[in-house]
Order: sequence, then C-alpha cells, then structure tokens
Amino acid sequence: MSQDQYTFTDPAQLYADIEPRKQHQPEPGLDAELAPKADLGEKTYRGTGRLEGRKALITGADSGIGGAVAIAFAREGADVVLSYLPEEEEDAARIAALIEEEGRTAVTVPGDLRDPAYCRTLVSTAVEKLGGIDVLVNNGGKQIFHEDLATLSDEQFDDTFKTNVYAMFWITKAALPHLPAGATIINTTSIQAYSPSEILVDYASTKATINAFTKGLAQQLAPKGIRVNAVAPGPIWTPLQVTDGQPQDKIAHFGENTPLGRMGQPAELAPAFVFLASPESSYVIGETLNVNGGMPTP
Ligand code: NAD
Ligand code: MG
Repeated sequence: MSQDQYTFTDPAQLYADIEPRKQHQPEPGLDAELAPKADLGEKTYRGTGRLEGRKALITGADSGIGGAVAIAFAREGADVVLSYLPEEEEDAARIAALIEEEGRTAVTVPGDLRDPAYCRTLVSTAVEKLGGIDVLVNNGGKQIFHEDLATLSDEQFDDTFKTNVYAMFWITKAALPHLPAGATIINTTSIQAYSPSEILVDYASTKATINAFTKGLAQQLAPKGIRVNAVAPGPIWTPLQVTDGQPQDKIAHFGENTPLGRMGQPAELAPAFVFLASPESSYVIGETLNVNGGMPTP
C-alpha cells in the first residue's frame, strides 16, 4: 500500500476529489449506488495487529461508517459478524468478501433492528459462530428529516427510536452475559446530540440518548472490566444522507460548514473505533470521541 491512514497529508485538501452531489435513494440505500463512491478504506486502511483474535459484532456493517469499521477491524485481526437489512445484501456481501480477503471470518446476519427477537438472535448467532463476542459496535441507525413536529408521524418517531435506541438496549443486554473482562462496547452517536438541526428533532433526540446511555452504562460496567464509549461523527458521506437524511438542496453542500470545509469519509471514522475497541484505550471510559471536521462540542 503506498498511501494509508498514516500518510502525512493536509486534512483540508484530503478527499478534494469526492464532491457531494444531489441524489436520492429509497431507504435504506446502498453504497453501491452512491455517486461519487465513498471511501471505506478499502485501498488504504493498514492494520497493525491491534485487534488480533478479537470477536466483533457490528450493526449497520454493510455500508458507510459500519462498513469502514468492519474492514478496519478485520485488517487489525478480528473476526466480524455483520448486521444489516436484507435489502442491503449487495453491500454486505462486498464487505464480507473484503474481510475474508484478510483471512478473517465474516458472518452475515440480515434482519430488522426494530425487532427485539432479531436483536437477540443476532447476539446468539455471533456467540455461536465466533465462539463469543468481545467487541460490540452499536452503529445501525435511521435518520429521516422532517420540518414540522405537527406532522411528524408517530410511526417515524417510533421507528427512529426503535432503530437507534431500543436496538442498542436489546443487543447490549443480550450480549452482556457473554462479554468477558476486557471487552469493549462502542456506540455511534452524532454531532446532532449537541447541535440538533431543526429538521432532525427525533433523530437528534436519539443521539443525545445514546450519549447518556453510554456514559451511564460505562460507569456500571467499568468494575467488571468492560469499557463503554461512543464515537460522534459529523457530516459523513454515506447512504444515510441521500435516503432523506437531508433535504436534496443541502446534499450538494454537505459538510461545507465544518472548519475543514468538507464532508468526511467513512474511512476517517474507522481509526476512532479501532482505538476504542483495542486495549490501548484501557483508561478511556464513558468518552465520546468526536470525529466531525472541527465543530466544537461540549
Ligand atoms: P449507512 O446508511 O451506511 O448505515 C446505517 C445502517 O443502519 C444501514 O446500513 C443499515 O444496515 C442499518 N439500519 C438502518 N435501519 C435498520 C433496521 N431497521 N434494521 C437493521 N439495520 C438497519 O449510514 P452511516 O452514516 O454510516 O450510519 C451509521 C451510523 O452513523 C448511524 O448510527 C448514524 O446515525 C451515524 N451517523 C452518521 C452521520 C453521517 O453524516 N453519515 C453523522 C453522525 C452519525
Ligand atoms: Mg447500508
């Protein structure tokens, strides 16, 4: 690999060739259809054995941030169980093949995170197929913009909370009896937890909840040797944004208002998850690592 995540570069100029363009996909969307293509680190992420022999379960692992994390984890030496929706089989198969190219095991378990029975089966399948779990990444998420609370449907509010919050609860609860001391849990929150957009009231509320869940649970599990942390992305080029995550007129300018002046790529998130998953972050607990192009956070 000539260029990797350690190559000295100007972060303001990085990815100047990946410009956001107006486009729409039906939910849940596919990385395969995103134009231009996002960088998930396929050609650049270089592992150094930081997760050797680890067993990871990642939700939303087919695309975007979760896909980049799955590739990075495999290159660091982990086996991975991938959760995603059945409609995303094409994306999931691509990520699974990249994991297998590293000589690691990839187990695909499609299903709906809004269903508690699926969440529990996901965990039991991971335990059975990998022989345990010691990294849990709750990353799957739903974001649909809506301008007016008066017309925000009960169904959308419920779906957003089920996908972003309840699934995290169901999966974490089912995984707990299997997690050994040294295991790590990483939840994906968002800049929206602190700077909620007026059109993302339901979504932003779930992300604030994820931060509180992370910090509370982190204290509960620390004495057991299980560390819980979160990653809070800023504007990242993924299918989530073009499936009504943003209004069409905002997509062409996505990320321009960050201090770096550009959107981020999923590949830029993966090192944050690797750091929090690996024992090198042994004294980091209940932290939210912001990866957002420079937007100030509390
Ligand atoms: P993405 O669309 O690539 O990933 C989201 C994934 O969630 C999907 O691939 C899908 O597999 C999964 N998902 C959604 N609903 C599901 C359901 N009902 N059942 C099973 N799986 C379901 O987009 P992404 O941006 O990589 O999103 C990953 C996480 O990052 C989400 O939690 C999102 O809220 C968060 N995030 C994204 C951004 C951004 O700008 N892209 C910013 C902050 C936070
Ligand atoms: Mg997807």
